Parts: sequence; C-alpha cells; structure tokens
Amino acid sequence: MYRIRFHGRGGQGMKTASRILGTAFFREGFEVQDAPRYGAERRGAPIFAYVRASKSVINERGIIRRPDLVMVADDTLVTIAAAGVMSGVTAHTVLLISSAAKPEVWQERLKFPGPVLTLPAAAEVAGLLERRFIGAACTGAGARLVGVISRDALARAIREELAPLGEAIVAKDLQVALEAYDLMAEHAGCVTEGQDPPADAYEKPAWIDLPFEDANISAPIIHAPATSELVPTGLWRTMRPIIDYDHCKRCAWICSTLCPDGTISINAEGYPVIDYQHCKGCLICMTSCPSHAIRAIPEQEAAAGMTGGVRS
Ligand code: SF4
Ligand code: SF4
Repeated sequence: MYRIRFHGRGGQGMKTASRILGTAFFREGFEVQDAPRYGAERRGAPIFAYVRASKSVINERGIIRRPDLVMVADDTLVTIAAAGVMSGVTAHTVLLISSAAKPEVWQERLKFPGPVLTLPAAAEVAGLLERRFIGAACTGAGARLVGVISRDALARAIREELAPLGEAIVAKDLQVALEAYDLMAEHAGCVTEGQDPPADAYEKPAWIDLPFEDANISAPIIHAPATSELVPTGLWRTMRPIIDYDHCKRCAWICSTLCPDGTISINAEGYPVIDYQHCKGCLICMTSCPSHAIRAIPEQEAAAGMTGGVRS
C-alpha cells in the first residue's frame, strides 16, 4: 500500500492536493482513501492531508504513522515540531520539500534517514499569486514519484476535481502539476509501497487516559478567563505585514478595527503597532489601509532580519 502525507499551511491547498492525487490513483485502478486533518479556522496553521492507495482492499484507518512519501509545501514547517513533518519517517520514506535549498542541505540539516528531493520550481515562482498553486505542484510531483500514475490520469483527476472553479483555474493547475510531473521524471518510481505492519506491531497512540470523576468535578463551572491569548498564533503566519510609518496617516480605526484577531493596538502617539506573537498574517490590514502604508514580506525574510510594525 502507498501511504502519502502532504504537509502545508491552511490555505495552501493540501486538502485539494490529496483529493486530486487520490482520484488519479483511483483512475489507475487503485482502492483509495484521502482525507485532510485540521481543526477549525486554520488559515496559515500547519495542517496535513494524506492518501492511501492499494490494489487490495484498504482496512487501515486513521492517520498515517509510517509514510512512504512525505511532501512539504512550506519548508518553514519542517522546524515546527507540532507540524509533525518528521513523524514516523524511516529509511524507506522519501521526503519532497518545496524549497530553493538543495536536497543535500535538507538531508544534512534534518539527518533524514531516507532520500530527500526538492521541488525548486515551486519555490522560485516570482509572484505571490503563483504560490496558490503549490498544491498542484505537489500533486504532480507525487504522482510521478510513485511511478504508477500516468500523465493522462493526473490531468483527468485535476479536471474532474477542479471543474467547479472554472476553466482558468483548471488550466493553471494543469500547467503547474504537469510541469512538476515532468520535473520529477528521473525519480519516477522512487517511492515504493510500504509493507503492511503485522497486528502485533500496533503502537498505542500517546493518549492520556483520564479516569471518570464525579459529575461536579468532570463538568465544573469555569471561572477562569479565556486563554486564547496564550496561544502564539503568530506561528501560523507565512506573510508578515509591515507598517511604513512615513506613510501612515494615523487614521487608526481602520487597520486596528478590521484586524480580525485584534492584534493591532494604538500607541501613545496614535500609531498602530502589530503584535507579531498573535498576528496570523491574513493581510486584511494591508488590503484595507487607505494610505497603502502596510506591505507584506515572506516570513522567512522577516526571520532573516527584516522587521517592522513596531514603533517605540
Ligand atoms: S489603516 Fe493605514 S493609515 Fe490608517 S492607521 Fe492603519 S496603517 Fe496607518
Ligand atoms: S495580517 Fe493584519 S489584519 Fe491580519 S492578523 Fe495580522 S495584523 Fe491583523
């Protein structure tokens, strides 16, 4: 059975990518499961989706614990333990990362036990708009790496799954997916089916068993205030809003009022200040600023030294 995991951020199309790859497998006569795994309101947050494909009946359920192929649409996720990119990988696992860095760099950095490939075409796209199609690139690359999906089956799956989005979107996804498919030609078939684990190899998930308590304890009245402030949702951000204070007119109520997370406060001088611990990078502030005083830069650039949005 093939066991494939897609890792990305909410909004990058990993759910759709897994769906398309599953359909392409199905077109080639495989039994298929595909499913995303994420909670509510996850734009920008680490999510994953997975595909199982086999010529036999699939009895396995739940998340994939021993993947044959792991595809990562956003290389900033690799270092986030909670994203689980490295979960269950073995020497049999192929890792494909969308990144401008070379495979050897990732191999060394991660001490990855199996083969590592990168998808440079997707990482080098010029416009932000193009990043919307990273899911299609992963789908095309994955289809070629397993070596059992024809170009035609991939194209049919894309048309079938994306038809409601209109011909222009379908055409762009087709172009990106087929380019990635061709790019992986020399690695075709490098992902092979993993063995089915024997029943006695079952590993109990790291659940915590809580004993039942009396109703007055197990259904307590909660007096504590909300704890959402303690969740660093800034971790989910892929693009960082930067305020250019030379152009800010201190109209104040627009960006700070429209920020859905309430992360823009106003300082004593009347300038907006972004709380990057909690800004999720939705960029509503940027699109609504009438003075065009807010721009966005990739989070990686920001981490490399560029800062903004803070005025002391
Ligand atoms: S909306 Fe623009 S001009 Fe108004 S306070 Fe915010 S950054 Fe400044
Ligand atoms: S990008 Fe702007 S509007 Fe969105 S959460 Fe961050 S500060 Fe708020």
